[in-house]
Amino acid sequence: MDLIAELYERGRATGRPVISFELFPPKTEQGWQQLVRQALPELMALAPDYFSVTYGAGGSTQERSLELVRVLAKDFQVNTLAHLTCVNATARQIEEVLGQFRAAGVRNILALRGDPPPEQKEFAPVEGGFSYAYQLVQLLKRMGGFSVGVAAFPEGHIACREGKRADWEHLAFKIGCGADFAITQLFFDNRHYFALQDFFRERGLQVPLVPGIIPILSAAQIQKFTALCGAEIPAALAQRLAEVAQNEAATVRLGIEYAVEQCRGLLGQGAPGIHFYCLNKAHSVREIVGRLGLRRVT
Ligand SMILES: Cc1cc2nc3c(=O)[nH]c(=O)nc-3n(C[C@H](O)[C@H](O)[C@H](O)COP(=O)(O)OP(=O)(O)OC[C@H]3O[C@@H](n4cnc5c(N)ncnc54)[C@H](O)[C@@H]3O)c2cc1C
Repeated sequence: MDLIAELYERGRATGRPVISFELFPPKTEQGWQQLVRQALPELMALAPDYFSVTYGAGGSTQERSLELVRVLAKDFQVNTLAHLTCVNATARQIEEVLGQFRAAGVRNILALRGDPPPEQKEFAPVEGGFSYAYQLVQLLKRMGGFSVGVAAFPEGHIACREGKRADWEHLAFKIGCGADFAITQLFFDNRHYFALQDFFRERGLQVPLVPGIIPILSAAQIQKFTALCGAEIPAALAQRLAEVAQNEAATVRLGIEYAVEQCRGLLGQGAPGIHFYCLNKAHSVREIVGRLGLRRVT
């Protein structure tokens, strides 16, 4: 299993963009079978540099995350980035989960604070827990042996009342604690990413800033996602989405075309790779990666 920091270093040295796919652990047996038997082999055929696995807030969700991480790392033998949050966990419990990830062969962690659980309006740590992701980064660095990523928000984090710039300063601090790379929240206007890229240059932040791209599959779903994270849907895209809203196939095609244009612009301006929010589906990502010529799609 490679350290993800090394994958980005190699990518930079060879000029080859690093491609990664984000998965979530399915809730149902049917979803699980669909992922492991169909989508995963199709995604594997694209030879991604790594997969990442999201982490949920409660008991069974966490077990499913660990199970998917095990399947990827042990059965599929691919580089795996395990997401980990600080929600409802003491520092000691987080260390235990990290021990389980390590035993599963995982050497890469995306260190997240996580969103407040539904019953809480604002994030509140449990006693002995962490308030911010940077504390998890510090723990991982103390433990050693992990390559550590963090979340970045080109439009600013939705809960940061002081605004985008203050959120970016928090990001700079989190990186200063020892993060090796940052992956962005989804966005649809590349100017937001370029502005954050400029901030990285200004502040001398050397770590890879990896754009997170979501291929749109449905207008309703993307409106829900953007409302949750505060990302903007540019007016021109909203208009095109409205025109195809009743036609699922046309919406998927629009999502592919839009993502291809976005990725072309990002890679043309020095993005170190693309992290695809593929929502456990292979079709759109295969098309995008193929059209960009990033991998041979058979
Ligand atoms: C690539 C990616 C993957 C994700 N995966 C998951 C997942 O698997 N599971 C999940 O539950 N969620 C996931 N999330 C969502 C994420 O957990 C939420 O957005 C969460 O609200 C913020 O997490 P963070 O790690 O950015 O937190 P932090 O960096 O701790 O920031 C949280 C808030 O606190 C502020 N802040 C940070 N440091 C300080 C400080 N020192 N002083 C004052 N304020 C501060 C920030 O500006 C921000 O508003 C993901 C997000 C991204 C971009």
